[in-house]
Amino acid sequence: MTRLKERGCFKKDLLEKFSGVFLDDFTPDYFIDLLEHLHIITKLKSHSYFLPSALPSYNNDNDLPESIKPLYYVWLEEAKDEWEPKNSVHIPQGLFPLIYVRLLQQKEYDVKFAPNLKYRDAVSLWVYIEEKRFTLYIINRYKHIEVYLDGPQKYCPQNYCPQVRELITTTINKSSDAINVKHNYANAFPCPKKEKQCYCIVNEEYKVANCSKCDSNDISKNDESYWCWFGLESDSIAAGIKDDALLNTTHLHDVRMLLRGVKSIDWFSFGFALGLYDKTLKRIEVDYPRSQDANKCVRECLVKWLEKADDVNDKGGANWSTLIKALEDNNQNTTADYIIEKAKSTRREGTNSKKQISKKAISLDKTKSDDQ
Ligand SMILES: [Zn+2]
Repeated sequence: MTRLKERGCFKKDLLEKFSGVFLDDFTPDYFIDLLEHLHIITKLKSHSYFLPSALPSYNNDNDLPESIKPLYYVWLEEAKDEWEPKNSVHIPQGLFPLIYVRLLQQKEYDVKFAPNLKYRDAVSLWVYIEEKRFTLYIINRYKHIEVYLDGPQKYCPQNYCPQVRELITTTINKSSDAINVKHNYANAFPCPKKEKQCYCIVNEEYKVANCSKCDSNDISKNDESYWCWFGLESDSIAAGIKDDALLNTTHLHDVRMLLRGVKSIDWFSFGFALGLYDKTLKRIEVDYPRSQDANKCVRECLVKWLEKADDVNDKGGANWSTLIKALEDNNQNTTADYIIEKAKSTRREGTNSKKQISKKAISLDKTKSDDQ
């Protein structure tokens, strides 16, 4: 019982102690299935179940880190007319615990519960990136989720915010799919005027943030304590292009940044060129039916590609040369050339002189010269 109260976890044998409750078909197994189906409990790796509602609720904001401003995920109603302003709505029932259980279960990053914050509506996790340990705080405010990242200054935690944001976004999308709810959320910053129910909604493409209810425009474009969540690609990425490195989901942010020049792409055909099946692409289309969501569709294609879904490995795998080819096949030569140039500029600067230029890198050069 103490395990349940302090850690929110229990094992099936706890239920077996309540023998009077279970009769005939109503067995502990059936009860567990039912609780899982209703997203009240989540199965953990160690044959135990996580019941967040057994934990106390969070009511102390004093310990939250301040150097990096929090990033919000705000759920918005599905507007009947696209030009109507959208009101914020409640986070779908059961989504919050799924998000951090999935963060703990995913394989690309090492994620553990941090000891200091574990409530039904707030949790802190340790995330290891390149062997560096950062602390992630995720708080359920019922109309939005607040995310904080903290870590020793020598590790420059602000440089890792974009990568963490992509990880959380992917986790929220997958958790939403698991409980069959739409991805109707937006990224936002806290309202600078602290107006109630007002969110400073972020437009990622144009790097602007506008309040949903008030007319504040206090967040400067240069305020890195906010915009670090939407930073540029990492410096090391050019070397990876040069070596035609195999990519995984931890590279999502870098890849997306290099693709930010992509305009009016047929994302369906792009996804197909990356090796994704028709049914996967149709599923993405259902999640993002509006034409202005093309950028999100490209993101979802890249997630699937980096996860090596469908035929990705047979179409050349998740590496730069496949990506460049898929861009060229979809009339995005400017972006393809930009990526190739990026790799060349590293070589000129000699920042990676020790590394041999691989055969594949030479073939990248060839792609370029064939183009001219
Ligand atoms: Zn505001």
